[in-house]
Amino acid sequence: MDVVILGEAEELIHTFLDAAASSDRDELLSRLSCLSGCFVPGRTPGLPPIAKAGDEKLPARSQIITRNTVLSSMFLIEPERGCSRGCTYCVMRRTTNGGMRLVPPESILALVPAHARRVGLVGAAVTDHPRIAEVVRGVVESGREVGISSLRADRLDEELVELLCRGGYRTLTTAADGTSQRVRDTVRRGTRERHLIRAAELVRKYGMERLKLYEMIGLPGETGEDVAELVRFSLELARIAPLSLAISPFVAKRNTPLDRAAFEPVASLEKKLAGLRAGVKDKVEIRPVSARWAWVEYRLSQGGEAEGLAALAAWRAGGSFGAWKKALAGNR
Ligand code: SF4
Repeated sequence: MDVVILGEAEELIHTFLDAAASSDRDELLSRLSCLSGCFVPGRTPGLPPIAKAGDEKLPARSQIITRNTVLSSMFLIEPERGCSRGCTYCVMRRTTNGGMRLVPPESILALVPAHARRVGLVGAAVTDHPRIAEVVRGVVESGREVGISSLRADRLDEELVELLCRGGYRTLTTAADGTSQRVRDTVRRGTRERHLIRAAELVRKYGMERLKLYEMIGLPGETGEDVAELVRFSLELARIAPLSLAISPFVAKRNTPLDRAAFEPVASLEKKLAGLRAGVKDKVEIRPVSARWAWVEYRLSQGGEAEGLAALAAWRAGGSFGAWKKALAGNR
């Protein structure tokens, strides 16, 4: 890459495009390397602060609605940007660009085009919007389908889940993000068992198909006992409603308190996953992210320019895991 733009692009993208149109390459890269939010490999010293757009630019929203997108024919809009919480593994935590910025429900609803039949509410912590029920009600009562990118278990209540059902939800998806209460407390994830039990009860009460939970394994300090707690608690939840666990190995991210935390060895992660599968048998659906590919993600997340060149070499060698392993082996 010649230049990486970090953070919110609403303003910086114009600066970038204007500069790109009017400069020769060398001059362009020199100019960009000095801008907040621009990283030019070999020229910007260290990581620059990430770009922040002015509040008047919010909310970001779709300009084109088409079937030819992953979220087919869905109008996307941000009722909020950022998050006011402090989970220590998360790049969107409150220290990022001043935390949560809210948009009033009236402004959101007024921006939904008349022809939009599906509305996606996007943001790091959408259900933390203090007036989220008003937004969802406005969408649903206009006869549209609704989608929300992030449901916090401690914000789910009867009113919101009932609205989500009316808006087309069949699976209630939320995150626990730690195998045990001890681990969740360590990473300041406020979710407690009672919140997740409540979510499962709401799934059952409103006749939804299943509860899907995002989980991480391999957070710092996690032991076999924490995984055993996940087995015990998953079985408890599965007795209330059908349950899927989407499990990702923990990958430390830059600009977070857990930056530089180690990646648990692949063999150890696979052993924990096998123990989890054996413990829940066929009573809980387990959908894991490959520990090997998470290791590649870890190396890229924590790496620098050498890892970027290794990525190029891995791609040239066919992109298999073996190619990545070989390419990254030289950069330890
Ligand atoms: S994990 Fe979710 S709740 Fe926690 S800081 Fe990140 S966005 Fe906020």
